[in-house]
Amino acid sequence: PSPVTPPARPPARLTVVAGPTAVGKGTIVAELRDRHPELFVSVSCTTRAPRPGEEDGFHYRFVDDAEFDALVERGDMLEWALVHGAHRYGTPRGPVADALAQGRPALLEIDLAGARQVRESMPGALFVFIAPPSWEALVNRLVGRGTEGAAERERRLATARTEMAAAEEFDVVVVNDTVERAAAELERLLGLLPARS
Ligand code: 5GP
Repeated sequence: PSPVTPPARPPARLTVVAGPTAVGKGTIVAELRDRHPELFVSVSCTTRAPRPGEEDGFHYRFVDDAEFDALVERGDMLEWALVHGAHRYGTPRGPVADALAQGRPALLEIDLAGARQVRESMPGALFVFIAPPSWEALVNRLVGRGTEGAAERERRLATARTEMAAAEEFDVVVVNDTVERAAAELERLLGLLPARS
């Protein structure tokens, strides 16, 4: 009898989630992370200061400029960008590569400039744009969050306007009408088994 080769495990896929500022990407990703421990969610490095309630190593790895420079110089960043003209954010390359090598699906939540870099280096990734139900909904969210001053808010709105126009560059657009529905749509796109609720 001829030897039977077991079917090859399909390679784990990288998914990149981006969208305008304050659209609620973070909440959707947190929901997915809660539902799916098998999903690897990248922890970004940032040079900005932690907000109240943010934990180093979980929400971000908070680093200073010198440390960020060193990571970039060593080639340890899969992508990085200056966001809102203020602080640098980047995805450490190693943990993503390790997760994919272990067969774990991996997810990055990054800005548009970062997503474009990943498209160059990892064209096989799935690119998902999170869109608000309307522009008004986005403005209300941005104003309602109240974590930024007026000048910062204007800067973020200007960024958001440009970012909305980028939806067409993505493989798929997911509308954040409710977190549950958007998270369920992402589950399907990523091929994750729906979690028990
Ligand atoms: P916040 O300061 O509100 O946490 O995040 C600001 C922006 O930084 C968000 O749009 C978020 O998508 C982006 N961001 C977070 N981590 C990364 C990263 O590793 N790389 C890039 N390019 N952008 C990131």
